[in-house]
Amino acid sequence: MSEGDTLFSKIIRREIPADIVYEDDRALAFRDINPQAPTHILIIPKHPIPKLADAQPEDSDLLGHLLLIVAKVAQQENLSDYRVVANNGAGAGQSVFHLHLHLLGGRPLQWPPG
Ligand code: 5GP
Repeated sequence: MSEGDTLFSKIIRREIPADIVYEDDRALAFRDINPQAPTHILIIPKHPIPKLADAQPEDSDLLGHLLLIVAKVAQQENLSDYRVVANNGAGAGQSVFHLHLHLLGGRPLQWPPG
């Protein structure tokens, strides 16, 4: 693996199988392997940014695009109420250092999260 290459890069390259629910030229969405809700989908940029704190001003279009994909996929999944999470850093629960948004829905979601 080259620098910045994570298992999500392998999913993008189809080297690891995933249940892909959406794809375009800049982004991919696939079901989480360890779902925390009936619907748990990860939305990732194809361009690898390790975490949100590493995003640059030139990434603003891409970040907006990812949020619009969240809404599109949620609609595709017939979710009206859902949560979007980005864990930034190991202390916040980030385990894969390729920026991703979690889309969680299909059950009541408590606040605050753990
Ligand atoms: P993080 O903890 O970094 O915010 O989220 C990483 C997510 O990736 C976790 O929810 C974990 O279950 C998911 N994950 C880890 N490995 C794989 C995999 O090989 N395939 C899929 N589909 N999800 C994975």
